Amino acid sequence: MNIGEILTADCANGLGMRVSVFVSGCLNHCKGCFQPQTWEFDYGIPYDGAVEQKILDELAMPYYDGLTILGGEPFEIQNQETVAALIGRVKKELPARNIWMYTGYTYDRDLVPGGCRYTKFTDSILDQIDILVDGRFMEEKKNLCLKFRGSENQRIIDMRQTRAAGKVVLSPLNN
Ligand code: SF4
Repeated sequence: MNIGEILTADCANGLGMRVSVFVSGCLNHCKGCFQPQTWEFDYGIPYDGAVEQKILDELAMPYYDGLTILGGEPFEIQNQETVAALIGRVKKELPARNIWMYTGYTYDRDLVPGGCRYTKFTDSILDQIDILVDGRFMEEKKNLCLKFRGSENQRIIDMRQTRAAGKVVLSPLNN
């Protein structure tokens, strides 16, 4: 996996102060995507142990609320193993930090058994994150007033409650 960028002290991609990691590669190709350079899987720099340690070290600073993983597309099949490993380390070493993820895929269609982006790593990822913002960016539903999402079809999903209930539970942040 490659990553395009690590944003530190980021307040735009989730609640509070965050480290945001933009992974490379996206096959959604949404019309109007604001960062089409991230569609290429070889965009940016290779993700390796040193990069992962840099993310963990930064996230350990006391002023951070959590980690956000976005892209690109973290749920492309070739990205999921590395994303799952990163999330596993964060939950083990920094359990107080919350984790948000962004995907252009639809949780209850594409990321469940039989879905087009369901792999042996998907449940491990979804079981450990707090918020998933899902859905393609749709230019015709673009709304600049929305917080944490670009178009009205996208959902801010409370993953803890969703996994416990077995059905999609939206975060109050959607309102
Ligand atoms: S999912 Fe995100 S990165 Fe991928 S094309 Fe859509 S807006 Fe762009």
